[in-house]
Amino acid sequence: PDIADIGQASWTLIHTTAAYYPSDPSETQQAQARNFIHALAHLYPCSFCRRDFADYVKDHPVEVKNRQLFTQWTCDAHNDVNQKLGKKVFDCSLFMQRWRGSQH
Ligand code: FAD
Repeated sequence: PDIADIGQASWTLIHTTAAYYPSDPSETQQAQARNFIHALAHLYPCSFCRRDFADYVKDHPVEVKNRQLFTQWTCDAHNDVNQKLGKKVFDCSLFMQRWRGSQH
């Protein structure tokens, strides 16, 4: 896979994970969600991508208190990459429709 393949697959996993994240997560689930993002920031298989992502995570701590905050965080993180690459900013109000096929 090239950078675009890895990126599309990774965003699919990240956003879908957020879209199905509990609305009232346990402390353990919150730690797991935070660890998931932090692990990606260290292990993502593109060195310059993960360096910038790690900087983003440092400046914008992952929001895992509930589904709404986690989805918004992943949407904002992806938009930061979109802007860096000169792509269109995604309208985060469409997030649940795009990644779960519903508004719930
Ligand atoms: P993608 O950006 O992969 O988006 C896939 C789909 O997600 C879109 O079709 C759209 O439906 C939806 N979407 C778009 N924006 C959002 C959003 N904000 N929220 C929710 N859904 C959205 N590539 C580089 O060249 N340089 C980098 O430094 C880089 N860093 C990356 C860091 C991370 C953590 C990840 C996961 C990927 C990174 N990528 C990077 C890959 C890049 O983001 C794209 O995945 C790649 O360029 C392919 O883009 P695309 O236009 O096919 O769609």
